[in-house]
Amino acid sequence: MLKTDRSAELFRRAVEVMPGGVSSPVRAFRGVGGDPLFIARGEGPYLIDADGNRYVDYVMSWGPLVLGHAHPAVVEAIREQATLGTSYGAPTGLEIELAQQVIDLVPSVEMVRFVNSGTEATMSALRLARAYTGRDKFVKFEGCYHGHADLLLVQAGSGVATLGLPDSPGVPHGATADTLTAPYNDLDAVRALFERFPDQIAAIIVEPVAGNMGVVLPEPGFLQGLRVLTQQHGALLIFDEVMTGFRVALGGAQAAYGVLPDLTTLGKVIGGGLPVGAYGGRREIMEWVAPAGSMYQAGTLSGNPLAMAAGLVTLRMLREPGVFERIVAVADAVRACIESSAAEAGIAVQTAQAGTMFGAFFNARPVRNYAEVKTSDAARYGRYFHALLERGVYFAPSAFEAAFTSLAHEGAALDQTLSVIEAVFRDRLA
Ligand SMILES: *Cc1c(COP(=O)(O)O)cnc(C)c1O
Repeated sequence: MLKTDRSAELFRRAVEVMPGGVSSPVRAFRGVGGDPLFIARGEGPYLIDADGNRYVDYVMSWGPLVLGHAHPAVVEAIREQATLGTSYGAPTGLEIELAQQVIDLVPSVEMVRFVNSGTEATMSALRLARAYTGRDKFVKFEGCYHGHADLLLVQAGSGVATLGLPDSPGVPHGATADTLTAPYNDLDAVRALFERFPDQIAAIIVEPVAGNMGVVLPEPGFLQGLRVLTQQHGALLIFDEVMTGFRVALGGAQAAYGVLPDLTTLGKVIGGGLPVGAYGGRREIMEWVAPAGSMYQAGTLSGNPLAMAAGLVTLRMLREPGVFERIVAVADAVRACIESSAAEAGIAVQTAQAGTMFGAFFNARPVRNYAEVKTSDAARYGRYFHALLERGVYFAPSAFEAAFTSLAHEGAALDQTLSVIEAVFRDRLA
């Protein structure tokens, strides 16, 4: 048994002063049972908890830490910038450099606005799509999560799925009155919405690889079909690449699948582990954003120099020859190991991988949408999660989240992971 007395003591204190003891719901372990671990530090591929236990981490702060925890180059960039000031509320050269990196890497992006989170990015991109098209309605997919803005908190997967909340109380009906939903991978449903609401749909927003209901890949033709339908009906296509950006491929899912959206939202990796988000797209649309245009959107700490510095060094390192491929190779190895170990044990598992992110469902049938996701065995995932954790491997405390690899996972951490996964299936601990 893991000794977790200090985490337990911290959790006891945390629940007194913070709702559920956490700052974001999925961290509370409600999806897998037990109490959350409190973290003392991160080191390369490892998390070290308050009791000194060490785990190979496949959560990686839910995606951002693509180089690993406390990568020396990222730490140095933050340290150096901190001595020059942490925020100015005025423009800096760092923003131009990071914007340029994004434009170079992400095929459809010609201009960028920085914000502070993925939630802000998607909320702003939808406001922009509505401003640009002069229409109010938009389409999202069941099980896709786009942050916690009122208008997007419908069929939202992720933490909402884990907690089994239908949606959230406190979201007024009016806020979601223009939010239309369709099943993921279902072009006919989208077509029907365009027929039912002609000239009223401003945009489709989609995770081009779904990562917030576990990992669900777009079926061949799905993203292309969305591109054609939006063009036919004068709506914008928004790829929410907050998770997939710089993870599915260096240029995001749009580079991997060769489909160019009108607007792209980014977050997670783009901040190198600091809080940041961004939205971008074609110049002609982005110039609607104030002060170039009339669509208002602002932020006291937006373009924060610490976040820009951390993001810049992260993207620069990711672009070095061979680096991205090495991070993908780690994901290949872990995903393949889950698949083969489960097969040997006769346990039905569906795995999916896109670049440096992957997932596994305990399910005998293919999983293509949220309804099918929900037929997976979440109780079994809970047992699997705890068996891995006991042996020093930390996956997401929910059956409906992706796993993420980093450059730091190669070598000992990966070897340990593979032997632990093999043992957990061989000994039928899941
Ligand atoms: C994480 C995530 C968000 C929300 O980003 P925050 O920084 O948590 O607000 C939005 N969209 C997707 C696809 C995400 O994975």
